[in-house]
Amino acid sequence: MSAGALLAVGLCLGFGALSLQRERAARAGELADRYVETARLINDEVGERLELINAMPAACGPEEVAALRALVLSARFIKTAVRLDDGRVVCSSVGGPVDPPAEAPRVDLIGRNGRRISLAVPQPGVPGSRLMVFREGEAMVSVHGRAFVDAVDPRLDFALVVDNGEAARVMFTNTASLQGLERLPRGESALTFNGRSYEVRCTLPYTGCIVADLRESPSLWDSRTLPEMIGLGLLLGLTGGFAFSAFLGRSRSLSRQLMLAMRGGELRVVYQPIVRLSDRRRVGAEALLRWTDATGKRVSPDAFISEAERNGMIGQVTRFVISRVLEDLGDELRRRPDFQVTVNVSADDLLDGGFLPYLSARLQAARLPACSIGLELTERTTDNSRELSRAIARVREAGHKVYIDDFGTDYSSLSYLSRLRVDAIKINRTFMQALHDQSDQDTIAPQIVVMAEVLGLTMVVEGVEEEQQAAYFHTLAPDALAQGWLFGKPLDARQLFMS
Ligand code: C2E
Ligand code: CA
Repeated sequence: MSAGALLAVGLCLGFGALSLQRERAARAGELADRYVETARLINDEVGERLELINAMPAACGPEEVAALRALVLSARFIKTAVRLDDGRVVCSSVGGPVDPPAEAPRVDLIGRNGRRISLAVPQPGVPGSRLMVFREGEAMVSVHGRAFVDAVDPRLDFALVVDNGEAARVMFTNTASLQGLERLPRGESALTFNGRSYEVRCTLPYTGCIVADLRESPSLWDSRTLPEMIGLGLLLGLTGGFAFSAFLGRSRSLSRQLMLAMRGGELRVVYQPIVRLSDRRRVGAEALLRWTDATGKRVSPDAFISEAERNGMIGQVTRFVISRVLEDLGDELRRRPDFQVTVNVSADDLLDGGFLPYLSARLQAARLPACSIGLELTERTTDNSRELSRAIARVREAGHKVYIDDFGTDYSSLSYLSRLRVDAIKINRTFMQALHDQSDQDTIAPQIVVMAEVLGLTMVVEGVEEEQQAAYFHTLAPDALAQGWLFGKPLDARQLFMS
């Protein structure tokens, strides 16, 4: 009897492990397919724009420069457009005519479609940022290197690989286990490398490929084969099933700690002043979370916020921040109707049907107008969709200002911004570093200022640490707002209205 039961338990575990393994591969394949769809969109846009540039007259008068800029500003992924003459750069969407003509970047590889590609070209004015440059005929466009990486689902361990049919080259990987990959299987959609199985998907046969596996096993409880498993589980009693699930289930330790931290008072909100550049008056503040754990160690918001986004906890975090803002600053905000506190939100918050009713109810209970709270949405999370545009429209109709956070380093494009319809952009602080480094004169900040003006957007310049940076932006955009250590570090609520 007991031997029979053991055999049955063994069979069930074996069946469970096998079907989880199959499901793991299927899910990795689905997520890899989604990446390929976005990569195709990028490649299509590149191809379309290269064709248009090649059809333009070779001159570089104001009309051609305006046409090049229009090409970039109406694009979703493309950052710069360039016209070549005899292989040398003569006209660019950033600076207009280039005289004397400049060298084009070195070609690193030629794609199957004949497009010449340069990898990791430094982006002028944005330290650390790399572009991918595509060339065809006398046309050249660049795409932010991260556009491809950001298109990959965060649940994957993956490598992005370029394969011209002769050799494969890993362009980016987030896992040591795929380093050294030099060959992709011909005609196969799966690969075993260093003892681990991966799914392989490519745009054209072997041009841009993704090699991917789920980072964590699907847990038994998330599994699509759960109904089959339950049948067996009932047969065998729940005990074995629980143990198995606990064994396979993924750890959510950081999220659990975050939950406890919220309840246990380890999280607090600080407020960084936002000033008007022209007279440096404080017109608002950004709410920023701080987590000091029980041992006194600080946990960086960059780490725990992205974990909360991954694990579906960001809604609770955002509501916590909103509650705190109203508790901390309610009285002051009632006294100062012009003062606005901005709260960082993720796209998931806006897409959650309960979010706006929650925010409105809390504001009403605090007897505050909607304009007391603005919402900052990072450019990185605003990836898609009509749905998000509608959600943004709803919060704006309710009276909240919407800011695109960290603008400029990712996919800044005019059509994208006008589609999203927001009130303001916050210019990423890497631009300040570019200004600090005087060798980098050709920052794209003026291009962004022009974009914002065309769309009637308020501009907030982030990360201002020095007078010289404030002066630069004051000349460029006299109506801009600013935030940074020069005007004040993040402060406790008590200190915010003291000076
Ligand atoms: P962010 O929204 O871009 O916030 C601005 C970050 O720049 C803050 O870092 C701030 O302390 C820092 N900063 C401000 N002025 C300066 C300056 O002059 N120089 C330099 N070098 N840095 C400056 P922090 O607080 O570490 O936050 C990092 C990121 O974490 C934030 O970036 C935001 O994306 C996220 N975050 C923070 N609090 C929250 C929150 O309550 N909810 C959500 N969803 N995200 C949050
Ligand atoms: Ca922010």
